[in-house]
Order: sequence, then structure tokens, then C-alpha cells
Amino acid sequence: MFSTSYIEISKYNYKKNLKFIKSQIGDQTLFSSVIKGNAYGHGIENMVEIAEWAGIRHFSTFSADEALRALKSSHKKSEIMIMGMISNEELAWAIEHGVSFFVFDRDRLEQAIKLGQKMGKKAKIHLEAETGFHRTGFELKEMEKVCDLLKGCPDAYSLEGLCMHFAGAESIGNYFRIQQQIKSFTEFEKLLQRLSLKPKHVHMACSAAALTYKDTVRDMVRIGIAQYGFWPSPETYMHMFKEIEMKNKNPLRRLVTWKSSVMSTKEVQKGEFIGYGNSYMASTKMEIAIVPVGYAHGYSRSLSNTGKVLIRGRMAPVVGTVTMNAIAVDVTGFTVEKGDEVVLIGKQGKAELTVASFGESSSQVNYELLTRLPDDIPRFIVK
Ligand SMILES: *Cc1c(COP(=O)(O)O)cnc(C)c1O
Repeated sequence: MFSTSYIEISKYNYKKNLKFIKSQIGDQTLFSSVIKGNAYGHGIENMVEIAEWAGIRHFSTFSADEALRALKSSHKKSEIMIMGMISNEELAWAIEHGVSFFVFDRDRLEQAIKLGQKMGKKAKIHLEAETGFHRTGFELKEMEKVCDLLKGCPDAYSLEGLCMHFAGAESIGNYFRIQQQIKSFTEFEKLLQRLSLKPKHVHMACSAAALTYKDTVRDMVRIGIAQYGFWPSPETYMHMFKEIEMKNKNPLRRLVTWKSSVMSTKEVQKGEFIGYGNSYMASTKMEIAIVPVGYAHGYSRSLSNTGKVLIRGRMAPVVGTVTMNAIAVDVTGFTVEKGDEVVLIGKQGKAELTVASFGESSSQVNYELLTRLPDDIPRFIVK
């Protein structure tokens, strides 16, 4: 294999996560699998394959390029939805292929309608409401005009959804803001009702909202991080702790295991420095192992002298700085040989390195760490 490390992605763990999330949102709720950011680092193609295998038929991407990849990898005619960037040039493509998209400004709306009419094919739109995220979305006042415009050309579009996004549902510090958003959203619903515009779906919840605020689960949800087996935050985890404790097990399972192998081993004498500079001095005679993974491979430089890996089922701390392509780890006291398996994230025997603990020590959150795993590390779907 021509790579210094590889990532395994467990499809059975995915199925377990799905089962748990569905137990929370109900079986009737449409589950859109969020696969932006290269499916949170898992690879769009891998995740479409796994999710379709597990019964998912709806995917959400950020942009048109991701939607194109999703469309190409889908074998079950799944719905694809673009939540963010789509240029006016890409709009025709989306309409042609039945890809739905968020609409949050006049220009996109007008272009979509124009194209829908010209192509004789309905643009599948989701109206995004501004409820307090203050990134994208129509203000209530604007929405009224948007609805008027839509009412005038019913053949140009199909109203797939009315939606919004939360500004940090994973943090209790945002509790008030989230409640305001929920309240504000009902105004948009009333407006559409009053104008007899009936969206096929109403969707607002991401992972944290769906798990924490049950009233945000409408007939559709957009789930990202939780399906990959991560809690959106420790708070979301704590929120569910009682329920979880009853069953005595964390119901979310990480899909990812990141593995490499020992490149070489070396004895270092007391008083010698390991690696560049003088950040680590051996305080006794030490045995170290070199692992061919560095910051160029997504192993953050801030894990210098703080990261840990698993070798032979034991924790081996990183010693010295993380370099571009390698780290040195302390394996003093255990027999390690060249070629031994090294786990950077995941389980080995009974020992486990979670991304969360890895993330904390590199001060990157799960989301960022996952998406930073370079695309060229081979990924394999495993049981
Ligand atoms: C990323 C994203 C989601 C999913 O968020 P998670 O916290 O990963 O579940 C849902 N909706 C929108 C608009 C998003 O950008």
C-alpha cells in the first residue's frame, strides 16, 4: 500500500448510530445525511455508499461540487440538497438533475425561477428563514415579497422546504438565542400558511438541536456529526446522560479508525534531546518508535509533546515536536518492533483514543479535526 497511514470507516457503527438517532427523532422523520466537508472527512463517496446501504435516501451538501460527487456516487436515486454555495451557472445543472437547494436571496430566487421556466423543469427550492443565525436567510418582511413572487409563477418551482439553521444548539450558553430562533421560525410558518404556500418539508434541526430540543424535530432533520459517531459537544452528551446511563453504554460509535505502523525504533540515552530543537530531553534511557505521520498528514503540530498513540494495546506519548511527516513516541518498557500497528484515533485491544480526547489536546474540535484529515489518506469501508 502506497501510503504511510490509512483510515477505516465502519459501516456497522454507522447503522448503530442511525438506529440511536432514529430512536430519538422518530421513524417517520425524514433523515437527511449531511455530507459537507467531504462528509466530515470520511469521504463523500464512502458515506453515500454506507448511508444508502443503511437505508438513507436524502443527502445535504454545502456546495454544488459536493452535490455532483454525491449524485455520481448514489445508486438509489437519493435526493440531494445544497444548503450553501451554488453559483448562477451551477443552478441550471441543479435544476436539470433534480438537485434541490436553499434559497436565501432575491438573485438566486429570480435566477431559479427564470431557469425553471426556460427549461420547463421545476426548480426544487427550500426557502431559508432568517431567525437569528445572521449568515443567510430571508428576513420575515422579505419573505412576504418572496412568497408573492412565487405565487405568480407556480410552474417554475416546487417548494420542497421551509428551513432555518441554529446558531449553536450544542451550547447551553446559547439557550436563549435558540429559543428566540424557534419562536421566530413560527412567524415564517404562519406567513406561508396564510398565503397557502405548502412546503413539502419543514426542517430546522441539526444533530445538537435534534438531540437536545425535541420540538425542533419536524418532519425532516439534517444530521451531520452525530451520524459519524460524535456528540456535537460534551453538553449534548450530558443532556442525554441519564438515558444513556440506563442502557449503560454510549450509543454513538465512531466510524473512523486511523492507523499507521512503526517505521523504526531507537534507543536514546539519558540527557539526549529527541527531534528538532530542545523541546524534549530524555530524563532516563528511553526506547522510542518513529511513526510516519506528521502535520502534513493532519496530525496537528500542537500535539507536540502532548499527543498519544496506541501500540500493542498500550498508550505511547508523543515526545518532541510533530514534524511534517513523522512523530516520535515513547515506548520505553514495552517490546515494539518495526511494522507494529499504530492507532492514532480509535481502538486497539481494550485501549481507545477518541477523537474528542485527541481534539482536546490539539485544541481542535471534532468537526475540524475530522475534516482536516487529508483527502489522500486512503479510506476503507470495513464492517
Ligand atoms: C452542518 C450543517 C448541519 C449539520 O450539523 P451537525 O451539527 O453536524 O449535525 C445542518 N444544517 C446546516 C445548514 C449545516 O450547515
